[in-house]
Amino acid sequence: MSASSALSLLQTIFGYDHFRGRQAEIVEHVAQGGDALVLMPTGGGKSLCYQIPALMRPGCAVVVSPLIALMQDQVEGLHQLGVEAAFLNSTLDNNAAREVEQRYLRGELKLLYVAPERLLTPRFLALLEHTPAALFAIDEAHCVSQWGHDFRPEYIGLSLLHERYPAVPRIALTATADAATRREIVQRLALEDAAQFVSSFDRPNIRYRIVEKDNARKQLLAFIEREHDGDAGIVYCLSRKRVEETAQFLCDNGITALPYHAGMNAELRARNQTRFLREEGIVMVATIAFGMGIDKPDVRFVAHIDLPKSLEGYYQETGRAGRDGLPSSAWLAYGLNDVMQLKEMIESGQAPEAQKQVERQKLNAMLGLAETVACRRQVILAYFGEQSADCGNCDNCLNPPTTWDATEAARKALSCVFRTGQRFGAGHVIDVLLGKATDKVKQHFHDRVTTFGIGTDMPEAGWRSVLRQLLAAGYLQTEPEFGGLQLTDTARPLLRGEQALRLRGLPDKKRDKTERDKK
Ligand code: ADP
Ligand code: ZN
Repeated sequence: MSASSALSLLQTIFGYDHFRGRQAEIVEHVAQGGDALVLMPTGGGKSLCYQIPALMRPGCAVVVSPLIALMQDQVEGLHQLGVEAAFLNSTLDNNAAREVEQRYLRGELKLLYVAPERLLTPRFLALLEHTPAALFAIDEAHCVSQWGHDFRPEYIGLSLLHERYPAVPRIALTATADAATRREIVQRLALEDAAQFVSSFDRPNIRYRIVEKDNARKQLLAFIEREHDGDAGIVYCLSRKRVEETAQFLCDNGITALPYHAGMNAELRARNQTRFLREEGIVMVATIAFGMGIDKPDVRFVAHIDLPKSLEGYYQETGRAGRDGLPSSAWLAYGLNDVMQLKEMIESGQAPEAQKQVERQKLNAMLGLAETVACRRQVILAYFGEQSADCGNCDNCLNPPTTWDATEAARKALSCVFRTGQRFGAGHVIDVLLGKATDKVKQHFHDRVTTFGIGTDMPEAGWRSVLRQLLAAGYLQTEPEFGGLQLTDTARPLLRGEQALRLRGLPDKKRDKTERDKK
């Protein structure tokens, strides 16, 4: 089993000239019987890492995969290359499943894809007793992580593979690689002794940009018209309604946009997806339901008009841009309402406290990226445990953001939250700061509090920016029941004037705007 046989398989069967990144090392290690944990970004080429060892070792590799559609694609692709492969999942009737099992027992298969729940059945385990597997590949290994975004309980049971078949090499693969998830995969799948192959998560051809939201749809339209006229792209929205509205808005403005979300009928959804893949220059407006397993190399931009809930999610979604290596954009518009809404969703949710804590941490990492004045790429890569220098290809590198001394403004905002009783939303707090005697202000006698009208030196947009950043940085929080703003303990030194604070942007909205227009 020499490196040249791996390379010749790559060339003769798969038709590629050379291995990418760490593929060669991984293939060699697994082919020789070693366990491996492979962390590689989406599109990095994980499949070959187990497909080639499967061809090098005697017997049939068993590949655990959670996604039925991806399983079928892979098996079809392998057939076209002349590799004997099959799958076992719920789409097969009993006869078809039996036929696949017989082929496995007769030694006719090189790769067998199975859903995790199927692998753990007595019937499948009996097959493995009779004819041991050449190796086990566990795809989408982060599904074993209980706090991850894709938890699948069946994955927990996969630790049994190591207990029963310690001599069979295992390779676990994932594109989700934050340190906590990585630790959980190692522990739950008993991979303590496995070699870890961590690829860089950098996507240097993607330019990251995060802008302050004022009218998301108009900003999106301007972005597309100015920088991506006629390009294929994906626009992510949080809700189905926003998907529909945004697709319609783009169409009304002469852009070929199609909606995609789980609430649409399956036929129309499939038709839109096919058009996106086959035609040029289509903009897909979608919820995060869209994108898993989509292999379209020339997506030129991924835009978010709502804030993602986690940095992993943001990274996965933006990673669908520029898989061909050509310059591409990741563009996100985000504002105070996004922060309020996502915080409130966590606090008012039914999840147990431990999970809420994880959700808060994930959101905070995303907020940290949105608010940073440092290189965006550096922040993203640091989250995945990689150190890097300033990239020169993100908004903050290209136009270093201005900051201003917001100590006084922050004190005013915090004390206004306090004086009005820590149970009102941002809109009301800003009305009080600006001295607007609305009905609601009068009804609560907030025109008589000491902070009424102390903020007239700054326009509403400036206050929204201040509150957003105070919330993102954890000086403020939303209370669970009605989502009103509350002070946290960290706000005290600031409120007492013992701490100074600089915020991004300029207090004057007009100047702020000209700053942005220069970009
Ligand atoms: P992942 O599972 O990591 O998202 P895939 O295994 O689907 O990635 O591979 C992504 C794409 O890259 C596929 O089209 C695959 O054929 C291609 N690819 C993988 N390895 C190589 C290589 N060594 N040379 C050229 N193309 C490759
Ligand atoms: Zn940068």
